[in-house]
Amino acid sequence: MSDMAQTEIVDKPGIVVTGASGRMGQKLVRMLLQSDEARLVGVLERPGHGWLGRDIGEAMGLAPVGIMVSDQAVPVIAQAQAVIDFTTPMATLAYAELTAQARAVHVIGTTGFDEEDLQQLTASARHAPIIRAGNMSLGVNLLVSLTRKVAAALGEDWDIEIVESHHRHKVDAPSGTALMLGEAAAEGRGATLGELRTPARDGITGARPTGSIGFAAIRGGDIVGEHDVIFASQGERLILRHIANDRALFARGAIRAALWGQDKGPGEYDMADVLGLN
Ligand code: NAP
Repeated sequence: MSDMAQTEIVDKPGIVVTGASGRMGQKLVRMLLQSDEARLVGVLERPGHGWLGRDIGEAMGLAPVGIMVSDQAVPVIAQAQAVIDFTTPMATLAYAELTAQARAVHVIGTTGFDEEDLQQLTASARHAPIIRAGNMSLGVNLLVSLTRKVAAALGEDWDIEIVESHHRHKVDAPSGTALMLGEAAAEGRGATLGELRTPARDGITGARPTGSIGFAAIRGGDIVGEHDVIFASQGERLILRHIANDRALFARGAIRAALWGQDKGPGEYDMADVLGLN
């Protein structure tokens, strides 16, 4: 190998993708195999998965790439400068500990964490950077900051409702993105989402509490992800909307985050940090 080719490989951060057979995992693998800025160095799946021991390229119906699907997280993560993780909360918590031990950047796209989970991630982030976002797209992160501004500008007589739509396989609701939007709206009103969130409506719910923030979730077909933030008042409505047409945009955002994190110290970051919106 020429000196120049060797330098290029050393300069490109090595990335491990977890949940490699999943919808996001496969997008990430494809994109990293073609990337000029980062290189795929390992792929992980859960123990017992049918793809274990197979070449990831072949398993995905591509040409072989020389990287085998593994469930041996410790040696695989040891080779990585960053781990990109779109799996489940339980899997992500385990990967967070190992990624922190390896002092690698952990980019987390997984959603559905509870408060206790988030405290565990905070503990891992004392050792290495964690970049976590319920949505990795530029458009949604702009929508978050617009939502904060509009909520601050409009009074409590403007009811805030967040409506999200996703594919039929999604297991958590409201989506991580809807919660980000809800938090931004609450912040705009000088409160926390915990203080303003209205429980899911079903049956005789009574009238809408003034100043509350409501959520509705639609699940069906192959919808990638749509979010409306509705501000409704007497005689008029303002709707801020984002539509994701292709998961590739989340994968691109996650790779960008992994590269951005390379020179960052331990701590918790989000996509607004990566995109320079904070
Ligand atoms: P998916 O298709 O179900 O993929 C998840 C993958 O993780 C599956 O291959 C699953 O394997 C695997 N997995 C489960 N446990 C594992 C473990 N212990 N180790 C390694 N892999 C494991 O789901 P998806 O649509 O890609 O979404 C994954 C997550 O990302 C969800 O939480 C979703 O809400 C979130 N998401 C976030 C964004 C964002 O921008 N932040 C965008 C899209 C999705 P099995 O199927 O065999 O269990």
